[in-house]
Amino acid sequence: MRIVHVSPEIVPFAKTGGLADVVGALPAAIKTLQHDTCVFMPLYKQVKENTRDLAQVDVRLTIPIGNTVATGNLWRSVIPKTDVVAYFVQKDEYYHRDQLYGTPQGDFKDNSERFIFFAKAVLEAMKAMQLKADIVHCHDWQSAMIPVYLKTLYAVDPFFQQTKSVLTVHNMAYQGVFWHWDMKLTGLDWSLFNWKQLEFYGKLNFLKGGVVFADAVTTVSPRYAAEVQSAEFGCGLEGVLTERRDTLFGIINGIDYSVWNPEIDPLIPAKYSAKNLAGKAKCKEHLQKKSKLPVKDVPVLGMIGRLADQKGMDLVAGCLDELMTQDVQMVILGAGEEKYHKLLHEVAEKFAGKLSVTIGFDNQLAHEIEAGADMFLMPSRYEPCGLNQLYSLKYGTIPVVRETGGLADTVTDARPEALKSRTATGFVFQELSPEGLMTALTTALAAYGNQKVWKQLMKTGMAQDWSWKSSAEKYVTLYKRVVAK
Ligand code: ADP
Repeated sequence: MRIVHVSPEIVPFAKTGGLADVVGALPAAIKTLQHDTCVFMPLYKQVKENTRDLAQVDVRLTIPIGNTVATGNLWRSVIPKTDVVAYFVQKDEYYHRDQLYGTPQGDFKDNSERFIFFAKAVLEAMKAMQLKADIVHCHDWQSAMIPVYLKTLYAVDPFFQQTKSVLTVHNMAYQGVFWHWDMKLTGLDWSLFNWKQLEFYGKLNFLKGGVVFADAVTTVSPRYAAEVQSAEFGCGLEGVLTERRDTLFGIINGIDYSVWNPEIDPLIPAKYSAKNLAGKAKCKEHLQKKSKLPVKDVPVLGMIGRLADQKGMDLVAGCLDELMTQDVQMVILGAGEEKYHKLLHEVAEKFAGKLSVTIGFDNQLAHEIEAGADMFLMPSRYEPCGLNQLYSLKYGTIPVVRETGGLADTVTDARPEALKSRTATGFVFQELSPEGLMTALTTALAAYGNQKVWKQLMKTGMAQDWSWKSSAEKYVTLYKRVVAK
């Protein structure tokens, strides 16, 4: 098969979220399964500035946008360390900007036009290069108009007769919602602007269009695929998602073990493995010293992530006072909403010597926390997949997570049966409250007191395989099913 991935961001070219990691890794994993893949994304300013070996492709893009015609160019390079070709849609008026989607003041006003152009440009580029695909795999709202176009404007185009589409939604909260007059820019018939297709409370919704028209829809974990069919997680699209339930799937993201593996990680002070855990104690001591915490044998709790409501920061804040009365230490790394920066600075001051808070993005420290901590907290409200709990499993850092989305799918609670069958890997709680989190932490801290049990949890998690290979196999199975339909 040939699979063309379309994404608004791809590592290492441009990244604002986990989506970029997925599309940076998945195509190569699919390629090792003997399927042809390539990727498309916009040519942002940062891509131009940082990508060596960019070469212009002899394709001129002429795209109708509303009553006018917009022109663009096509460039190519290769995803580093792979042989996956990356194509870049160039239109400097749209993409040559410092940010991808907006400034701190808000989204760019022309985002609908930018990504209508992108969607059409990808299809036109495929035609111009005679790049016939079995599957166009679209990621998030910025690519979600492609499934719409394939079933409407391009439905009778002989070139696309064998081409099916898959849409992956990485986070249901981002949908690409625009005022209704932007329908004119799409070139689509107004008859599609109805509540079962593109219309969403009087506005135009790109993601909804993709969900309705794609041949299959996926989210990045099976649990999240089930959750988004409910009002609590569907962000208004639960109705159309429920209608698509027979073709809605969840596939867990893989992680990159060449980067996140304590046996080879160059960013940690001592290497270790499930067979030889001695290095982990050194990593813990290093983390305590670096975080200005006393070096002693107490459980160290780690937390890394965007400081946002989604990540359950309010739950952590709500139980920190109680947690800090216990003989524990905690290291938090994150950046995000201003209110949480302020709050964390306050508690860090209050519990100096027990709690260390670093505000900012720091990949080095992220690795040191994963290696040096004993437990890792992820009390998310919702979590489409989550990566940090998977890193934690590999680093023998026991995850304490809320039972939602990818967290529920990847961490097995240390209930007696699971301990007995040696399948337990962490602590999972349901209740969305500081008390719920505190109860789970109390259980985890008690388990830490029994080092035999604790080592078993560590070793079970460290032995698991959450690599891209198994995710890629699941995607290929899905592609085959879609093609055969
Ligand atoms: P998200 O919802 O933000 O995508 P994930 O857990 O799926 O959450 O992935 C977040 C990724 O970003 C992880 O690789 C994590 O280590 C990294 N990360 C998040 N915040 C920080 C930070 N402040 N410093 C370093 N790395 C971070």
